[in-house]
Amino acid sequence: ADIAMYTAKTRRTGFTVFEPGQGSTDPRKLSLAADLRHGMARDELTLHYQPKVDARTGDVLGAEALVRWQHPEHGMIPPSEFIPLAEHTGLITPLTRIVLDSALRQCRAWRDEGHQLSVAVNVSAHGLLDRDLATEVADRLRRWRVPAHLLTIEITETAIMTDPGRALQVVEQLHALGVRLSIDDFGTGYSSLAYLKNLPVHELKIDRSFVSCMTTSHRDAVIVRSTVELGRNLGLRVVAEGVEDDATWRALEAAGCDVVQGYLISRPVPPAEFSAWLHHRGS
Ligand code: C2E
Ligand code: CA
Ligand code: CA
Ligand code: CA
Repeated sequence: ADIAMYTAKTRRTGFTVFEPGQGSTDPRKLSLAADLRHGMARDELTLHYQPKVDARTGDVLGAEALVRWQHPEHGMIPPSEFIPLAEHTGLITPLTRIVLDSALRQCRAWRDEGHQLSVAVNVSAHGLLDRDLATEVADRLRRWRVPAHLLTIEITETAIMTDPGRALQVVEQLHALGVRLSIDDFGTGYSSLAYLKNLPVHELKIDRSFVSCMTTSHRDAVIVRSTVELGRNLGLRVVAEGVEDDATWRALEAAGCDVVQGYLISRPVPPAEFSAWLHHRGS
C-alpha cells in the first residue's frame, strides 16, 4: 500500500517518472522500498566520509559523503542496492535532502573543530531533476553557515542524460549559488565531452575502472593521462578515485592529477573515525 501511495504521489507531483515493472513487482524490493521510507524517518541512513587529498602534498582538502543504510534486519545495505530503489519510488528527493543536510552539518562540525574542509555529495539521476534542489541547497548552506564553495555536488552523466534541459537548469542554479560541480565517473558515460562543453563544471572525477588498471594496462594509463590533460587544459580540478596503491598515486601525480581518493588513503568511515583519522594525521 505504501508503494502504491508513493508511486501515485510521484506521478501526481511529477518528481520522477514511474516506470511500471521496473523492480516494482519483486516482493523483496517492494518490502525494501517500504522499509526505506520508514528507515529514513527513523534515521537509519548514515553518512560515511572518504578523504580527498592533494596529489602532491597529501593535504586533506575535503571528503566525499557516501550514504549507508543500517537496516534493522538485513544489516548494512550498500547504496548500489537502495539508491536505484529510491529513484524508482520517488524517495530519492527526500533522501538527497537528508544527505545534503547531514553532510553540511558535518562540514560545520569540522569547521568548529578547526578543519577547513569541503564536502562532496552525490546527486543522481532523479535527484538532479528536483526543481527545488537549488533552493533546498541554499537553505541548508544558510542553516549550517557553510560557504557555498565548500560544497561540491558530484553528478553522474546518466543524471544529465535523463532530461538534459531540466538538469541543465538545476545545474545552472547551483552554479549561481557558488556550489562546485563535479562530473563523477568520468569516461564511463555516454557523451562525457558534450557535458564538459555545456555545463559549468569545476571538477572532473576519473572513474575507478581506469585508475585501478593504470599501472598494469598501457591503454588505461593513456586514457588517464589524456583525461588529466584534458581536464587541466579546461581549467578543471582533476580527481582520481579508486587509488589503492602507492604506484598508482605516483603515476597520477606524475600525470599532473590534482586530487586523489581511495582505499590507500582511507576507506569511507563514520564521522567519529574520520575526525580521529584527521587528528592522527595532524591535518
Ligand atoms: P561513487 O560516487 O563513484 O563512489 C565511489 C565508490 O567507490 C564508493 O562506493 C566508495 O566506497 C568506493 N571506493 C572508494 N575508494 C575505493 C577504492 O580505492 N577501491 C574500491 N574498490 N572502491 C573504492 P559506495 O560507498 O558503495 O557507493 C557506491 C555508489 O553509490 C557511489 O559511487 C554513488 O554513485 C552512490 N552513492 C553513494 N552515496 C550516495 C548518495 O548519498 N546519494 C546518491 N544519489 N548516490 C550515492
Ligand atoms: Ca561520487
Ligand atoms: Ca565515482
Ligand atoms: Ca561510481
